[in-house]
Amino acid sequence: MPLSIDLKDTQRRDALSSRQPAADEGLKPSIIGMDRDELADAVRTAGVAERQVKMRVQQLWHWLYVRGVSDFSDMANVSKDLRAGLAERFTIARPHIADEQISQDGTRKWLLQFPSRGAGKPVEIETVYIPEEGRGTLCISSQVGCTLTCTFCHTGTQKLVRNLTAEEILSQLLLARDRLGDFPKKDTPQGAIVPSEGRKISNIVMMGMGEPLYNFDNVKKALLIAIDNEGLSLSRRRVTLSTSGVVPEIYRTGEEIGVMLAISLHAVRDDLRDELVPINRKYPIAELMKACREYRGLSNARRITFEYVMLKGVNDSLQDARDLVRLLKGIPAKINLIPFNPWPGSQYECSDWEQIEIFADFVNQAGYASPIRTPRGRDILAACGQLKSESERLRKSERLALEAMMIAGHGEA
Ligand code: SAH
Ligand code: SF4
Repeated sequence: MPLSIDLKDTQRRDALSSRQPAADEGLKPSIIGMDRDELADAVRTAGVAERQVKMRVQQLWHWLYVRGVSDFSDMANVSKDLRAGLAERFTIARPHIADEQISQDGTRKWLLQFPSRGAGKPVEIETVYIPEEGRGTLCISSQVGCTLTCTFCHTGTQKLVRNLTAEEILSQLLLARDRLGDFPKKDTPQGAIVPSEGRKISNIVMMGMGEPLYNFDNVKKALLIAIDNEGLSLSRRRVTLSTSGVVPEIYRTGEEIGVMLAISLHAVRDDLRDELVPINRKYPIAELMKACREYRGLSNARRITFEYVMLKGVNDSLQDARDLVRLLKGIPAKINLIPFNPWPGSQYECSDWEQIEIFADFVNQAGYASPIRTPRGRDILAACGQLKSESERLRKSERLALEAMMIAGHGEA
């Protein structure tokens, strides 16, 4: 498929939403991302009598996660005094949208700014929305930068700035729902069940910046709220966590979160994987495969996705495909082949399209689904491995170099 990009056509918006947080909102703690016990403590501090706490928590949960309000004053059935008490101490403001870009293929990328709120420095992160036939997927970040240094990944070149809090992880979903009009309208009767079918965001993937299993507690907290069926109600099967292979936390993910698992495999031999995905030196392939085989709830209906980036002359031979099939034997699996997305300074090229097809056919004939992931949002640097925060935004010269690489057909799919 020829890649036609015209960066001039890329729509870029100064997306100042009507509800930008006021400066002092940044200093108050947010109640977004709190579990029900923490929320109960929050309403107690705002003066709610013990016998009312449970009911108030339920009301708040509904306003925050079914209705998607971002201002206490919109919580119609909450008394004025309590709204004021909460607003004095807490915030529910969304992050600031520093930039919103829309790719020619409909992919959207938001650059979001989070104030410090005592959790460390203020940070900027990227969140990507990918609309497809019959579904819409939000790609969420878990860290600013990454401590791992996978050699083909742009995020890996950026040092870890910090982990995102549960609030910051969850706010990416809330903000995207706001921007896509995916919360019920103000006049929807209260208590109405909002179906998950027909929603713009039907799936989420923890595949943005960072290694989610190096920020386990916050990711767990945010995902448990995203799948809570009295709130955002995403189905567990439509939430996928992608990891480079942090083995102990893979077991915990199955037991404590229960979402779908994706493994960034990329190589089938330890020597090569040690180089491409350096965490392999700590948790080699055999240990990783054991964790996959024992992943809780694994079945043909709940397969593990193995991601495999296609690097020309590095991991894309027919022998690699054979070894891959042998390695995954007995694991209910799907293999996502990802054409390598280039970035300035990257040392790899994407495999030739023919080679990707030969590889995919072999794996497919061995009985595994092996879709080739169509690169999305390349013109706005929203594709896999291209995310980086504003603090490291590409210099103009780098962006031009990237355009030239893409036009020349590197990584073309
Ligand atoms: N840290 C996690 C999740 C974020 S990366 C992980 O590694 O799984 C999301 C996916 O994008 C991973 O499969 C990663 O290997 C892949 N990826 C990274 N850089 C890429 C690139 N330049 N081209 C294509 N895929 C890339
Ligand atoms: Fe980090 Fe994942 Fe990139 Fe590796 S591929 S550097 S784990 S974000």
